[in-house]
Amino acid sequence: MTLFDYENTSSTAIQLRCTNCGDIHNVHAKHRTCSCGKVLFVEYDLEKAKETLDKQSLKSRNRFNIWRMAEIMPVFKDKFRFSLGEGWTPLVKLENIGSRLKLNNLYLKDESFNPTGSFKSRGLCAAVSRAVELGIKDFVIPTAGNAGAALSAYAAKTNTNAHIFMPEDAPPFIITEAKSLGADVTLVKGLISDAGKIAREKGLENDWFDVSTLKEPYRAEGKKTMGLELAEQFDWSLPDAIIYPTGGGTGIVGMWKAFNELEELGLIDEKRPKMITVQSSTCAPIVKAFEEGKDHAEFWENAETIAAGLRVPAAIADYLILETLRKSKGTAIDVDDLTIKIAMSQLAKEEGIMLSAEGAATLAALEMLLENDSIEKDEKIVVFGTGSGLTTPEAW
Ligand SMILES: *Cc1c(COP(=O)(O)O)cnc(C)c1O
Ligand SMILES: [Zn+2]
Repeated sequence: MTLFDYENTSSTAIQLRCTNCGDIHNVHAKHRTCSCGKVLFVEYDLEKAKETLDKQSLKSRNRFNIWRMAEIMPVFKDKFRFSLGEGWTPLVKLENIGSRLKLNNLYLKDESFNPTGSFKSRGLCAAVSRAVELGIKDFVIPTAGNAGAALSAYAAKTNTNAHIFMPEDAPPFIITEAKSLGADVTLVKGLISDAGKIAREKGLENDWFDVSTLKEPYRAEGKKTMGLELAEQFDWSLPDAIIYPTGGGTGIVGMWKAFNELEELGLIDEKRPKMITVQSSTCAPIVKAFEEGKDHAEFWENAETIAAGLRVPAAIADYLILETLRKSKGTAIDVDDLTIKIAMSQLAKEEGIMLSAEGAATLAALEMLLENDSIEKDEKIVVFGTGSGLTTPEAW
């Protein structure tokens, strides 16, 4: 029996294209980055996708996973569309904070509803599902925390193995979470960049597939679904500004890709939100590069912040993040840890929502963005609450 009308639908993915040199790679082979070292994107036959994907057909499709728009997702067979119920997270109007700041249209996309408590489950759901379809059984990942927990969950679901390398000072519950989900967890001295080096070596040594941020093409496809959902939740008209706590940048880059695909499908027009990056003042490589007008960010030395997901000193997709911020006429801003903590508490006490530090950072940035005229009071603004505050009890 077919429950939802996409179940017999195949992906229309046709090829992988390098975002840097433009080289084309086979979408049916195992690829990570391009031979030039940069990020690969999945390309779809959008004319073909249009034949079955429209506003009407979406009405009969499941909302409780990321496979709703199966035509523009990378998995070909329905049996490989694994799910733990990720996606279709609520868009909550922040009425109390909105009225304090005199903003009439302030929304939170609350990603804490995802499995394992963060939006990382979207990306790892897509990456693991596609990798399993390609026959992969062992995964390796360097992570600040949440990506490791998400990989662990999808590895358990798909009977594959997760090998996780994370900083020894990652949030303690998230370490417990990954272990409890059955992963092989190694704690590393230093940052995610140090974990990345060890993960890379171990991965090559043992033939484990490395699902580091944007170092394979499919996590971005999972994160892209945040953009697909926003369009649909706002009845096919995008908000004026999206404020996003940026680490590796998968979400920013993925949502921008989603918007372009939706426009080609005829589902939205050319209007785009201002994409706004928020980072921590003590780890702000993208903000610095944006302000200096550079196309690439420098490695950030001595990165340190309570927002573990933002403690990313170098991002492979720096050039894509910076291009998106500029094309969208957005901006980049940093906030200090104290301001983030205050925002966590305000959101809890004023709105009843306990977000992790990364998500609260977007609210911490709001007043500054209003002051420097990056956003205006009557605009429709979406802040991304990327993770739950419940997985970091020590932060409270
Ligand atoms: C990973 C992470 C981020 C950063 O996400 P990117 O899309 O890689 O920039 C933000 N918030 C949380 C809670 C995270 O786990
Ligand atoms: Zn290339």
